[in-house]
Amino acid sequence: MAATRKVCDLERKTALVVSGSGKDFEMSIATPIKAIRAKCLDCAAGSSNEVRLCTVAGCPLYPYREGRSPFREKPSPERLARLRENAKLARNARQAVLA
Ligand code: SF4
Repeated sequence: MAATRKVCDLERKTALVVSGSGKDFEMSIATPIKAIRAKCLDCAAGSSNEVRLCTVAGCPLYPYREGRSPFREKPSPERLARLRENAKLARNARQAVLA
């Protein structure tokens, strides 16, 4: 397997993972769960499918490998609708600032 190189930009809170497989990616490391996801992608040479299929159930990161906590309740349909509306408002505000 080819070498993997990571470049962390702590100011932007992102990690650029340059893997030998050609699946380079940049991701936010703004939260611990995102950092775990980045570590799992690093472990699986950048393949999200390999992370999903990981068989190392004894790994402490295993429950969190897909970028979310299995112990957290799913949001209700009402909360999902509110979250979508807030995201839409934020997107529109960002576009207005950039325009
Ligand atoms: S859970 Fe699997 S993919 Fe994630 S770090 Fe552990 S062994 Fe690697």
